[in-house]
Amino acid sequence: MKILLVEDEEGLIITLTDRLKSEGFEVVSAADGQTGFEAALADRFDLIILDVMLPKKNGYDVCRDLRQQGLTTPILMLTAKGETIDKVLGLKLGADDYLTKPFEVIELLARVEALLRRSPAHTNGTAKTEAFRFGNVVVDFKRAEVSKDNVSVELSAMEFKLLQFLVENRGDVLSRDSLLDAVWGYDAMPTTRTVDVHIAWLRQKLESNPKHPQFIQTVHGLGYKFAG
Ligand code: CA
Repeated sequence: MKILLVEDEEGLIITLTDRLKSEGFEVVSAADGQTGFEAALADRFDLIILDVMLPKKNGYDVCRDLRQQGLTTPILMLTAKGETIDKVLGLKLGADDYLTKPFEVIELLARVEALLRRSPAHTNGTAKTEAFRFGNVVVDFKRAEVSKDNVSVELSAMEFKLLQFLVENRGDVLSRDSLLDAVWGYDAMPTTRTVDVHIAWLRQKLESNPKHPQFIQTVHGLGYKFAG
């Protein structure tokens, strides 16, 4: 999960970045509205935390312009104390939730989690494919459980994420880079070789004949494809 933090208070940037990272989020920060606006359009984020009072372009304008660009990423706005009108305006302009400064970091985390749970990108992934069956394998996305021939299969978190992404995009040819971005995250250290290794492990665990995979197929020169 990747979060864009648009905030100009240095102390808050550090605190929030540290905390969000320790919760397992990837965080990119922008210190003014214009940079934040451009960052939000240049990359794919799961959530945007957007301060209202920002240099160059204020949070309302950023929010409005992002929505005008068709961006549906959930936006959590940070408003200053007592600015009730601001909250209403923020929601009108397309923000999904707001938090009034000063706030406890734990409160922010709760809002972030709630927004991610109800965001369409997230629910699409799980609602469409709560359970998925291919061959003798059953994947329960809700419980993050996989079984083969009715026997539970242990997958690492990354293997599971990779499998989920493959299944959600079944039929599509997925390049190693796109898998790396989607599963490991854009700024992650792993190389495309990591993708190959995890694909091999998944095949080993799930395919009847890992050397001639029926479901997790190689598309030569292009990447991988889930056929099922
Ligand atoms: Ca500010």
